[in-house]
Amino acid sequence: MSEYDGACHCGAVQFRIVGDITDVYRCDCSLCRMKGALMTSVHEAAFTLVTSEDKLREYNWNTGVARHFFCAVCGIYPFHKKRAMPDHYGVNVHCLKGFDAAGLSVRQASGLEMTVKAEGARETWTGPRQP
Ligand SMILES: [Zn+2]
Repeated sequence: MSEYDGACHCGAVQFRIVGDITDVYRCDCSLCRMKGALMTSVHEAAFTLVTSEDKLREYNWNTGVARHFFCAVCGIYPFHKKRAMPDHYGVNVHCLKGFDAAGLSVRQASGLEMTVKAEGARETWTGPRQP
């Protein structure tokens, strides 16, 4: 099983995840589109925040359930606590040392469908919509 050290750009926020990364995705919600991050999901048991929480800032929007964290110093988004799976983190794989996403197919996550402000939005993620 793999282990990855993660950090923001300045290093004030450092974390570690355990597990093989087989699924990476981009989300099309209004926030993730601006971040441009490539993400993977990690169970909270496989996630360790190495540095103290005082360098983390939190952003909440829409339903306020998801906890979007960013570095207070450099502003980089390293991870967030997910709304659809509250016991999982969404981790920005570009913050992981030694991880190369080349060769993995990138899944498109439909975060835009989750927002309650969108027409036809769903309260919880129940999987891709059927055509
Ligand atoms: Zn930083």
